[in-house]
Amino acid sequence: MMNKIKFDEKGLIPAIIQDINTKDILMMAYMNKDSLLKTLETKQTWFYSRSRQELWNKGATSGNVQNVKKISYDCDGDTLLIEVEQTGVACHTGKYSCFFNELYKTDDYKINFSLDILYNVIEDRKNNPKEGSYTNYLFDKGLDKILKKVGEENAEVIIASKNEDISELKYEIADLVYHTLVLMIEKGIKIQDIKEELSKRVK
Ligand code: AMP
Ligand code: ZN
Ligand code: ZN
Repeated sequence: MMNKIKFDEKGLIPAIIQDINTKDILMMAYMNKDSLLKTLETKQTWFYSRSRQELWNKGATSGNVQNVKKISYDCDGDTLLIEVEQTGVACHTGKYSCFFNELYKTDDYKINFSLDILYNVIEDRKNNPKEGSYTNYLFDKGLDKILKKVGEENAEVIIASKNEDISELKYEIADLVYHTLVLMIEKGIKIQDIKEELSKRVK
């Protein structure tokens, strides 16, 4: 397998790191042969730092380790793709992914919206508070406030269900889902944790 992987003239190969659950591209860093071997051995990502000229275990200081689930190499063997379970955030700026700088976007660009994306947006607010953010207001007030909102939204879903018109019900379910995600993040529960629990119940 190792002989199919082409390290460049400096002995390096770019490794693209992808979140196995959300499919987000998290970061790119270089590996050399030793760091790839250490990655395979420890099942955590190890890179080669070109500035420090040393091996670097992602998360060694931040705690944001990446647990390796799958490693692939591309058609011509000059790029690695590593699917990981990300602990915390991937970027040293506190952002979930390193790719948050927009260079170009079409006018009709739409992200393929998902609960995972919303989860990441809420988590990003927690890590990088924004002026006037309602999400930050909830986190600042704390667990009791979040629980109060979850309780209220539950009641509103029940009330809206009594209407013939389902548009209000959709709105209230959206509110409930959002506040439930805020509660999950406050308590450190991942979407994957809920998926695992639900999947156990599918016969
Ligand atoms: P960590 O590996 O998360 O404990 O961070 C240790 C150091 O590695 C940081 O101070 C950065 O120099 C570097 N680093 C961590 N994450 C990244 C990243 N996603 N991209 C580039 N450099 C990083
Ligand atoms: Zn290639
Ligand atoms: Zn980064």
